[in-house]
Order: sequence, then C-alpha cells, then structure tokens
Amino acid sequence: MNRRTTKSTNGVHTVSRMFAAAIVGLSSANTFAEPPIESFLADAPANFIPPPIHPAGAQLQTKQLGEGVYALLSGLPAVDNSGFIVGERGVLVIDAHVNAEMAGQIQDAVRRVTDKPILYLINTNYHGDHTFGNYAFPKETLIVAHRNTAEHMRYFEYEKEFLLPAVNNDRSVYSAAELRLPDIAFDKYLRLDLGGRFVELHYFGHGNTPGDTVVFEPHTRTAWTGNLIIGEGTIPPMFEGGVDDYLQTISQFAQTLEVTTIIPGHGAPATGLLLGRYLRYLNDLKISVRGAIDAGKTADAAIASLLLSAEYLPPRDAPQAALIPFLQGLHSLNVQRTYRDLIDR
Ligand SMILES: [Zn+2]
Repeated sequence: MNRRTTKSTNGVHTVSRMFAAAIVGLSSANTFAEPPIESFLADAPANFIPPPIHPAGAQLQTKQLGEGVYALLSGLPAVDNSGFIVGERGVLVIDAHVNAEMAGQIQDAVRRVTDKPILYLINTNYHGDHTFGNYAFPKETLIVAHRNTAEHMRYFEYEKEFLLPAVNNDRSVYSAAELRLPDIAFDKYLRLDLGGRFVELHYFGHGNTPGDTVVFEPHTRTAWTGNLIIGEGTIPPMFEGGVDDYLQTISQFAQTLEVTTIIPGHGAPATGLLLGRYLRYLNDLKISVRGAIDAGKTADAAIASLLLSAEYLPPRDAPQAALIPFLQGLHSLNVQRTYRDLIDR
C-alpha cells in the first residue's frame, strides 16, 4: 500500500535546536473531510482486535520518576498514559488525552504537585486519543507537535470516524471536542526550556504514524514514546508504518538515546531493552514475510502460516497475558502490511 505523502501546509515554520520557538500559523478554520491516509483497518485480518481505549472508569495514577518528573499511568491497560515535567518556570505535559474530562484529570494531577503554569503540551501523534483533549488546556499553553502530526490533525472529522471502533462506537466520548491545532511544529529536534530543566523532543522517522515524537527527560532518562512503543511485552503496532521505516526509526531511536524508562502511549512502562525486542521482531517479520513471498504464498496463506512466535508472547501467568489475543491479531496485521510492502519488490 502506498502511503500518501504529507501535504505542505502554509505557514508552518520549522523549529530546531532552539527553545524560543516560532509560533506557527495553523488555523482551525481549515479542516478537510479527506483522509490523510488510506484506512487499511477496514480490511484488517479477522483476528485483529482494535485496542479498547474507551476512557470510562480510567483513572490516571501519578508515578514520580525523579525530581519534577511524573508519569500518569492509566488504570485500564489500553487507555492512554500521559505525564508531566516541572521546571522553575512551569510545566510541560505529554499528550492531551481523548476528551476534556481526561484532559482535566491530567491538569488535576499537575495541580496536586505544583501551581506553576502549563507552558507546553506535546502531542506525540495526531490520533484523537492523544489530541482531542487539546482544547481543554489553558489558552496560554503552547501546543507542540511534529510537523506531520500538526498537518494530519486537520483531518479532524476523519479522525473522529477512524477512532470509533476503538471506543466501542461511542461517539459521546469525544463529540464535544473542538479542534485545537498545535502552535509550534518541529522537524527533527526541539529542546524546550522549563527553567533550570530542558526537555528534548525527537523525531526519528515514521513509525506507527508519520509524526511519532519521543519526549526525552535527560536526568531520569525517561522517554515518552506515544504509540511508537506500546508497552512492556508488546510488538510494534504497524497501523500506518511499513517495516523498513519502522526498523529505521527504532534503530535511530536506540542509537541516539540511552533510555532507562519508557512511558508508552498505551500499556505498561518498560525499560530501554524493549527497543531491542522491537528491532528483533521487525527483522524477524521482514525475513519471514519475504520467505513466504518467495515460496509463492498468497497474503492470506502468509497470515495463516506466520503465527506470532512464542518468543514474543507473554507467559500465560504473567500480568501481560491478557494481551495475548491482541498481540496475535496485531502480528497478523503486521504480516499483512509487510506482505503488501514487500510483494512489489
Ligand atoms: Zn494512541
């Protein structure tokens, strides 16, 4: 499947290696009904289960990782995590969650720790579960995202449709959301100054989405990864990215940052070792799908024969055992996607 290249957007300035960043001219007046990408989930393999991210009953638990560094972990396994970092001048929040209520939970958690202003809100990717809460943050808060994320967020109505299966087709979850686009877009790297503390934003390439951003706090060596990494015991979610892009992106990530703790967009926190597992999986996937193509198998036959290896399945008595059906379906989706990517080469 061809991924449509992102369109250029007038008025988006590139900001790199600077912390007094330019404000971009993204206006919420311009939204498009046309989707930015083809929705391949429509013909996903039968065993694929959309991740259940309906926020009903989700409580974000604050976990301190170091001085001024906090993860916000969802009590429900697939519902989005978040986090925040406190400097002398103010606070940086990672991801806005899916609606005003969840965005309010994030801000309540910040207020239990500090009354300093929320200076920055980072959107790690364009999907609604990371961005629909934007409008519920203070007007003074600057929203920051990768250029591709900022551009894809214009497809607001399309994204509301895309997300429906993951929230039990319950439109009320985000029907009140108003589009609030990023104020600042960056290309490769951006360092933000919170006063006595810098936070780094990295773009390593296309992973799960075209604009996946890693937020890195250098003192604790914590990386918030959005949906590029979906937690301990998982495999890469290739919803939008091809195998070569994903391999390149994760290896760039692993070579650039020495990570102690990963706070994923969804799922359980992990150590930096998870990057090695992702690389191994992607290499195995590519080799096995290539083998199936060379053996003359159809896509369906490849999906049926290339089951997720036991190496990538959590033990049945482990806390992650509940993920097994999801991981098996996700692997089938990854095989399908990779087959389509490799068949023409
Ligand atoms: Zn997500």
